[in-house]
Amino acid sequence: AQSRYASLRDLPAEARCGTRVALHMNAGLIADLPSLAGSGAEGVGLFRTELQFLIRAHVPKRSELVAIYARVLEAAKGKRVAFRTLDIGSDKVLPYMKRVEEPNPAMGWRAIRVGLDKPGILRMQLQALIRAANGRPLVVMFPFVAEMDEFRAARRHLLDEIERERQLGHILPERIEIGAMLETPSLAFAPREFFETADFISIGGNDLKQFFFAADRENETVRRRYDMLNTSYLSFIEQIVSRCAEGGAHLSFCGEDAGRPIEAACLAAMGLRTLSMRPASIGPVKHLIRRISLEGLRDVILGARAEGAVNVRAPVMAWLSAQDI
Ligand code: PEP
Ligand code: MG
Repeated sequence: AQSRYASLRDLPAEARCGTRVALHMNAGLIADLPSLAGSGAEGVGLFRTELQFLIRAHVPKRSELVAIYARVLEAAKGKRVAFRTLDIGSDKVLPYMKRVEEPNPAMGWRAIRVGLDKPGILRMQLQALIRAANGRPLVVMFPFVAEMDEFRAARRHLLDEIERERQLGHILPERIEIGAMLETPSLAFAPREFFETADFISIGGNDLKQFFFAADRENETVRRRYDMLNTSYLSFIEQIVSRCAEGGAHLSFCGEDAGRPIEAACLAAMGLRTLSMRPASIGPVKHLIRRISLEGLRDVILGARAEGAVNVRAPVMAWLSAQDI
């Protein structure tokens, strides 16, 4: 499949209407990084940092994390890498962490909630990221932020660590981007100040969709029940796009749906300009985007919605099959 799209690798995901969409890849291991060149991804839109914590019997040492993150940045050769701080807790239990029994782990004590309540590991991870950057740009995003104050507090930890590193005489990142993952519907309704303060926002579509529809992403009985191309969900995405535009926060989308060509095209039609996906999806998504007009697709979606459609998949498929793809 890779070879089928190899000729597209160095071409932009530019639609017929002239709109360009930046395609980034998701990663979580140093071993994923060669795909950055291989897939033609413009950067790493989501680097999940859980794995280095899960595979050990003890909390990784700061020096170990510095070495790993530095290797990631070196392998990225100047392309942007968005490091997501630890999204752990409840279901992803660290062997060395006290287990907390929770009836509903996905909605429990996880991610930034753990980081803010017990900031030791979060701060150590932030120090490691600053040191690994070693003068290069640093991009940090906080997972599962549900309200502005959580983002403020997490951002404060990062700024404090930068100040501490400065006082220690260490080299600081050339510049820093601080962002949040939008994975709970509540954050879309945060005060305007949130969208002005965040440098960027990345929609974690896997979690956002499960909480929007109240349908467990791990539950086989319901996980496919609601479609991303549901008009309520697309309207919600549209609102997020406009709130980010008003506040000046760059918006991206990094859930699995970004790697499905039709879903990706619809996200782009709703205004997303950066999508992050597994490397193998970059070719197929780029192929489709280059063959269509996103304006045309947007008209189809908005037209179907205006007519009261619950889901736009059928009209979108009909329109696509009439295109030269
Ligand atoms: C998401 O929720 O869409 C996401 C990218 O994070 P994860 O899948 O790691 O929860
Ligand atoms: Mg998530």
